[in-house]
Amino acid sequence: LEPAYQFMLRVRAAGGIVTPAQWLMMDDVSQKYANGTIRLTTRQSFQLHGIIKWNMKQTIREVNDAMLSTLAACGDVNRNVMCNPNPYQSDVHAEVYEWASRISDHLDPRTKAYHEIWLDGEKVVDSLEGVEQEPIYGPVYLPRKFKIGVAVPPSNDVDVFSQDLGFIAIVENGRLAGFNVTVGGGMGMSHGDPLTYPQVAQVIGFIKPEQAVDLAEKTVMIQRDYGDRSVRKHARFKYTIDDRGIAWFIGELQSRLGWQLEEARPYHFDHNGDRYGWVEGSNGSWHYTLFIQNGRVKDEENYQLMTGLREIAKVHTGDFRLTANQNLVIGNVSADKKEQVEALIQAYGLTDGNYYSALRRSSMACVALPTCGLAMAESERYLPTLIEKIEPMLDEAGLRDKEIVIRMTGCPNGCARPMLAEIAFIGKAPGKYNMYLGGGHTGNRLNKLYKENIGEAEILESLQPIVNQYAKERLDNEHFGDFVIRAGYVKEVRSGQDFHA
Ligand code: SF4
Repeated sequence: LEPAYQFMLRVRAAGGIVTPAQWLMMDDVSQKYANGTIRLTTRQSFQLHGIIKWNMKQTIREVNDAMLSTLAACGDVNRNVMCNPNPYQSDVHAEVYEWASRISDHLDPRTKAYHEIWLDGEKVVDSLEGVEQEPIYGPVYLPRKFKIGVAVPPSNDVDVFSQDLGFIAIVENGRLAGFNVTVGGGMGMSHGDPLTYPQVAQVIGFIKPEQAVDLAEKTVMIQRDYGDRSVRKHARFKYTIDDRGIAWFIGELQSRLGWQLEEARPYHFDHNGDRYGWVEGSNGSWHYTLFIQNGRVKDEENYQLMTGLREIAKVHTGDFRLTANQNLVIGNVSADKKEQVEALIQAYGLTDGNYYSALRRSSMACVALPTCGLAMAESERYLPTLIEKIEPMLDEAGLRDKEIVIRMTGCPNGCARPMLAEIAFIGKAPGKYNMYLGGGHTGNRLNKLYKENIGEAEILESLQPIVNQYAKERLDNEHFGDFVIRAGYVKEVRSGQDFHA
C-alpha cells in the first residue's frame, strides 16, 4: 500500500485577479480534493492544503482548465507578480495591472515539462537535439526564487520594499507616467545568523511603462549570472546587490539595457494595509473589500464565509481580487448588481472588519502549523488569540482605532513580511517568539529585535507599558513604529546589515 502523502498546492494569478468562474473552480477543487478551505496568501495567490497524492494530477488539470496555473508558483524562477488591487483609481489600476501581467507572462518559464508531467502533454525531450530552451533562465534557472511587486501610491500594500524587484507607479495628471524602480529587498533570514538578514529595497530610478518588461528581464538575467550558486542561504538577489554594490548593479543593468534610467520621481506612501468596505471606482463600478482573517476562507458554525462567497460568485459579473494583505476585494460590481451582492453580504454576515480593532484589521500571519513543514511555532492559528489579549489594553488606552501593523510568522522565512511590521513575532519554538518593534507604518523600514524567545505572558507584559506610553506621549499622527524608536525601545534600522547589530 502506498502511503497517503498529502500536499499543498499553490495557484497563481498575476496581480491576484480572478473571475467569478475561477473562484467557483477554486471552491470546487478545495471541497473535492483539499481540506475544504481556501487560503489566500501574502503574494495574492491561493493555497490548497491537504491534497492527497493521487488527487494531485486531477486538481492541477482542473486548475489549468479554468485558465489558472500552478506553474512557477514555487521554484527558482520569478514568482507571482504582485500588483496593487487599488479600487480607488480603476483606470490607472487597469493600466498598471496590464504591465504587471506582461512582466509576469514574459518571465514565465518556457518549459513544457510541466505540461508533460501534469497535463499529459507531449514528451519534451525525446532526443539530444530536442532539449528545450529557456531564453531567460537558461539551463540551470535562477539560484533562488525571485519576487516582483508593483505598488500604486498612496498604498504600499504589496510591500514593494520587500521585493527583489519593485515598481512604484508614478501617476501624473491622472495618467500612468511610468515607474520608479526598486531593487534588492527580501525578508528571509535564519535566526542567529548575521550573514543572513532581511533587507529593504533601494529606489534606483524612473522608467517609462513600456520599458518595464525589458528591465525586469535584464534584472532577472543579472541575478541568474551573478547570484550565489554555492551557498543557498546567500543566493537571494539582495545579497548579490549588497556584495557588489548598487552602483555596480545599475551599471550592469544599463549596459545590458542599452539605455539609462531617469532620475526617480517623487512619490508618497500612506500605508501598507487595506481599506475596507464599499468604494466606487472611477469607472462607475463598485468594489467591496472584505476582511478575511489571515486569508483563511472556510465555513464555521457562525460564519459561513465560503458559502457566502460561493453564492456571490454565482451572480457576480465583475472579478475577485486577492490583496497582498490576504483579504479579498469583490471587484467591479456593476451598479445594477450592487444591491444583489450587498444583500448576499448581509445575508451571510460577511464583514468589512469595521467592528474589529484597527490592530486586528492591520494583522497578518503566515500559515505555519500544521501545514508548513518549516514552522517552528504557531502563527495563523495563534495570532487572532494573541490579538484578543492585546485588544483590551488598546481599548483601555483609547487606541482601538489606531492602525498598528502587527504580523507573525512561524519561522524567519518571513512569508507574512513580519520584518516590516510595527510589532512582529517570529517563531523560535512551540509557544516562543522573537519580538520585534519599529517597522515603518508604510512598509519602508525594517524593525528590530526587542525581546528574544518569549511566550505569551512576557509578550503581554512587554507591550503594556509601551502601549500606555504611546497613548500618552505620541506626537500628532505619530505611528507606533516611529514612536518606539523615538522613545528608545529599539534602534532605527536603516539597512538590513544593521538588523542583527
Ligand atoms: Fe513561511 Fe515560515 Fe510561515 Fe512556513 S512557517 S509559512 S516558511 S514564514
